[in-house]
Amino acid sequence: MLLRLLACVTVIACSASAQGPRPAPVGAAADYHVHVKGDLTLDDALRRSRQDGITYGIAINGGVGFPTSSDAGLEPFLAEMRGKPVFTAFQAEGREWVRLFSRQALAKFDYVFTDSMTWSDDRGRRMRLWIPEEVGTITDAEKFMDMLVDRATRIFAEEPIDLYVNPTYIPDQLSAQYDRLWTPARMKRIVDGLAANGIGMEINNRRRIPSAAFIRLAKQAGVKFACGTNNAGAADLGRNEYCAEMIKACDLRPEHLWSPPAEGKKAVQRKELR
Ligand SMILES: [Zn+2]
Repeated sequence: MLLRLLACVTVIACSASAQGPRPAPVGAAADYHVHVKGDLTLDDALRRSRQDGITYGIAINGGVGFPTSSDAGLEPFLAEMRGKPVFTAFQAEGREWVRLFSRQALAKFDYVFTDSMTWSDDRGRRMRLWIPEEVGTITDAEKFMDMLVDRATRIFAEEPIDLYVNPTYIPDQLSAQYDRLWTPARMKRIVDGLAANGIGMEINNRRRIPSAAFIRLAKQAGVKFACGTNNAGAADLGRNEYCAEMIKACDLRPEHLWSPPAEGKKAVQRKELR
């Protein structure tokens, strides 16, 4: 099955590259969420990509509290990537990013993505879900999940993003209950929100999310999938193992797989920055 899929993917990549300068690999032939950081240099990433036959989407993070928090910080990154065989991605951090960058600057990237890991709770406390001290002890997991679904669906409706990454992540203190807390009703709100806004869903190799059940539901809703890793350093980069596993387990065919939007169809070109 995987071999057959890879054969189809090759056909698609060839026909896409015939139409434009940039090949459009899909499925496990691309890792759309790579960061040049930690001990991973750009040269390392390019070598690794070539060796593994996996095209990388290299992302810069931008937002409040990040080294890049305005248009001016984007150009050096874009200049460094120019002419390299990679996609360029902008990872929107926090919810304030829509006020920090212009559409014109963001449209220079191949795509924009974000996650639902940074938001403010009902008391106005800004949290980054991967930092335990900011989240504190969650005493009411049900209430927390409802808040997460509310914030995520608001992001999908309001922010111009092409891809939802680190999808369905919940704090480590709850992760053992992932399948119980992501009830069918909550999953449905997430996948419907993605589908309604034309947003793709990452299948994240490093955290092995979303679950197969989540992916099957999203597939039914017409959501398209992109493999991504979100590496902290070189050691996190693999060969899309989890994504390939899910492609097989959920019978994802080329038509279910995401590829970067065409010029003019990018989320920042379709939707307002509010
Ligand atoms: Zn990232």
